[in-house]
Amino acid sequence: MIIRQNTALEYEASPLIAAPHAFPTRLGGASGGALASLNLGLGRGDSPAALAENYARLGRAVGFDPARCVLTRQVHGDVIRRVTAADPAGLDAPRPDCDALITDVPGTALVIFTADCIPVLLYDPDTGAVGAAHCGWRGTALGLAEKTAQAMTAAFGSRPESLRCAIGPGIGLCCFETDGDVPAAMCAALGEAAAPFLHPAGAKWHVDLKGLNRLWLQRAGVRTVDCSDSCTACRTDRFWSHRRMGAARGSQGAVIVCKEVAK
Ligand SMILES: [Zn+2]
Repeated sequence: MIIRQNTALEYEASPLIAAPHAFPTRLGGASGGALASLNLGLGRGDSPAALAENYARLGRAVGFDPARCVLTRQVHGDVIRRVTAADPAGLDAPRPDCDALITDVPGTALVIFTADCIPVLLYDPDTGAVGAAHCGWRGTALGLAEKTAQAMTAAFGSRPESLRCAIGPGIGLCCFETDGDVPAAMCAALGEAAAPFLHPAGAKWHVDLKGLNRLWLQRAGVRTVDCSDSCTACRTDRFWSHRRMGAARGSQGAVIVCKEVAK
């Protein structure tokens, strides 16, 4: 993963993905207080003007029109929404209840929100189709990353071995301490394959959610996965972390844009 800077904005991006995309940090936005400064989360009490300015700045830097953004109302499930040209877009549009979005409509920008959970972006260089998934521990246990890749195959004919995927900043093995329920859910879903990502720590566990999502993508047949080293809970100066900050925080918004592919 590489770090890009555009005036005060700073975001991570993968050199393996040719579509415009970003995993933004919290830096370079217009929001104040606990939301300072690049809050992209709706429903966090931010002012509409600050949100509009944040999306406008990110859109100029990354290359998308905020009026073409499709956002989610996330529920920690495994529902994947295919976005078509008929879907309403923009910051004021109704948001579908889902944790992943896919589209092949050029100009559409998919946005998912995180603040410790793992953002996964998917790109099909053959068709230009894109996907975005919000994988918290529940979504990880549900195999949402694998299911999103499979949904792109079903909807667009994407070949898994061609897909290029990026796992963005999220809570790391260092900070994601859990009770036994989280490892039990991973073992129920993945069997022995989950073991390398589950580390006992006294009565607790440390869980490598990024590694588990990489494993799910590999199980889908994806060969190219780029993974951020950034832990949101270690670096609250750069990211929002639900674990460290509670409810008084903004949200990261991972974005990927579908672009026309020359056939
Ligand atoms: Zn950490």
